[in-house]
Amino acid sequence: MRIAIGQLWQETNTFNPTLTTRQDFEEFGILRGKDLVDRMGDTNELGGFIQSLRAWPEKPEIVGLVRLPAWPSGTATAETFEWIRREVLDSLEKARPVDAVLLALHGAMVSAKEPDVEGAILEAVRQRIGSKIPLVATLDLHTNITQKMVANADALVLYHTAPHIDVFETGQRGAALLRRILIDGAKPTTAFQKLPMVVPAENANTQERSSVSFGLREEVQGLEHLPGVLTAGIATVQPWLDIPELGSAVLVTTDNDPQEAQRMCAEVAAMLWHRRRDYFGELVTAADAVRTAFELHGEGLIVLSDCADATTSGAPGDSNWVLAELVKYAWSRPALVTLVAPDVVAAAQKLGVGGTHPGPLGGVRDHRFSKPLPLTTTVERLFEARFILSGHLAKNLPIDMGPSVVLRHGAVRIIVTSRSGPHFAPQLFEAAGFDPFTAGVLIAKSPCGFRAAYQPRARKILVVSAPGCAPPDFWKYEFKNIPRPLWPWDEIEWKATELDRSGPRIHRCQRHALWGSPA
Ligand SMILES: [Zn+2]
Repeated sequence: MRIAIGQLWQETNTFNPTLTTRQDFEEFGILRGKDLVDRMGDTNELGGFIQSLRAWPEKPEIVGLVRLPAWPSGTATAETFEWIRREVLDSLEKARPVDAVLLALHGAMVSAKEPDVEGAILEAVRQRIGSKIPLVATLDLHTNITQKMVANADALVLYHTAPHIDVFETGQRGAALLRRILIDGAKPTTAFQKLPMVVPAENANTQERSSVSFGLREEVQGLEHLPGVLTAGIATVQPWLDIPELGSAVLVTTDNDPQEAQRMCAEVAAMLWHRRRDYFGELVTAADAVRTAFELHGEGLIVLSDCADATTSGAPGDSNWVLAELVKYAWSRPALVTLVAPDVVAAAQKLGVGGTHPGPLGGVRDHRFSKPLPLTTTVERLFEARFILSGHLAKNLPIDMGPSVVLRHGAVRIIVTSRSGPHFAPQLFEAAGFDPFTAGVLIAKSPCGFRAAYQPRARKILVVSAPGCAPPDFWKYEFKNIPRPLWPWDEIEWKATELDRSGPRIHRCQRHALWGSPA
């Protein structure tokens, strides 16, 4: 028995003007064939696949296709998408014959000519393997699920958590589901409901009892434990995608019981719609947030979430709205903030430690919402931003953000990296020579995931509302391609009664027959 595994991981933010190219994937680390299996055995979804498959009594042969990861950023170029499709199909061709395919996907990747990259990849793989070979894919919770994705996979398995602390486990769930299809003969029937709504990511903390997401996570995990249910998930899509099929979704896959799948899916969808207003939380301007942090920073750690420039949401990472406020104050303890700026790194390396960097800083990659900030700093340290990421988003994931520097302005330390990456991770601040938990104030460029590391130890957390490519108040920005009406852009009536009448769409995936009436 031969089971093929592969990965395509990139989250697109269509507001980021920096396009994603093949080079971004190459810099992150492409793996092919045996190398993929040998090196990813303890990392993220691929690790979950590999360890699960190795534990099967049938001892299947694990065949590595290709691992294509790039850090979240702007739209991928059309050539990049064509290259990805070729890579996936060529690797599949080499691997054949296979008895099943397991893919680890993000589910919110957009290219210049293809707004549904993962749908197109699943379709291409399906066409190549035919309708009888099981195809199971895992997805991020912020995926934009499309009809094409559902129609071409036997099952889609979503992360249940945000912060994403179940990435490895989602791989295990994907492999377990494949086993039920392949070995136990389960017949997946998927009910899929798209909802005309998008919610902010900032308060969607599935691990925080007071968050609406906590109860919804418990609901779908409860469903998934029922014997007839193969998988259940809620995809509260990430909002910074100006594409025609944008919207949240609920998915329930049962073993050959379309009515039950439909009933459960409709129930969860109604619940999500009903609670949509609960996703909105308090936002503070950059000026107010930094002033509050200054007033409190004498003891404990204050964390400011600069979500509008969240590199985990695909923002460019060089917005300077918060930095401009930080340098107005004389901090008695370190104030840590990050910036993605390869030119600044190169200039600081030339100046050497102790050199004076004349500025400006930031506002280059994000030239839509930030302007370069005039600021003179001292080069304090040169380092390589290389570490192993575990926690939100990752289990044992190697990260390399390239040559990096620490610039100093009073007690404000600006950690400047050449490439984008997890600009919230404690491991990044540690690589730069700081203990993030003993800082006075720390800026996390992350909307929610940073809470996994900081919530238990921070004295106070504030969510900043500043202009940027991943703003929490996204509906105030110009979108040209999204479907309308869409909440919260439009105040609409989409009632559970409507859902009850027509029900979610049902797919009997293995045969590609679409039945049940579209909602
Ligand atoms: Zn996500």
